[in-house]
Amino acid sequence: MNKNADWIKDWKGQEKGRRKEYKKLVGQLKKKPARAITELADDVHQNTFEKYDCLDCANCCTSIPPQLNRTDIKRIAKHLGMKTADFKDEFTRQDEDGDTVMKSTPCPFLNTDHTCQIYENRPRACREYPHTHAAQFVQQLDLHLVNARHCPAVFHILERFEELIKEC
Ligand code: SF4
Ligand code: SF4
Repeated sequence: MNKNADWIKDWKGQEKGRRKEYKKLVGQLKKKPARAITELADDVHQNTFEKYDCLDCANCCTSIPPQLNRTDIKRIAKHLGMKTADFKDEFTRQDEDGDTVMKSTPCPFLNTDHTCQIYENRPRACREYPHTHAAQFVQQLDLHLVNARHCPAVFHILERFEELIKEC
């Protein structure tokens, strides 16, 4: 873990100043063939997460309560040796949309070194976040605008796409 890693320094300030450009970028990406953008996303996502380590950051685990579906709840409760109902009582709540989410932030399963105590059994939402992998990149274009405010990896991915769109 390196809390002073350059890639997470001042990304929030930079992102705030770039929102208009990102909105324009997403509009441009929507007009491109989905297959071409998906292929690019595959490269950009992989390169980003090879270069940057989530253990430097953990902003999602610290500030966004993940959604849990029924399968997640059963799996995690079993892993913890708890009854499903007890796990729900202790760790989950209903959010304003009626979805079941982790009760508290930072997540109770986040260790101080930013590792996850239930990593192998973590919720699907945690596995899929921040939705920039090839299978979801195009369908979640609008969400990337929101997630860039919470996730420095998404910020860097949009920055890279800004460079690539000029070459398209
Ligand atoms: S997914 Fe994004 S917000 Fe979460 S730890 Fe990785 S870089 Fe940080
Ligand atoms: S379950 Fe693990 S990956 Fe998901 S928010 Fe909690 S600590 Fe992070």
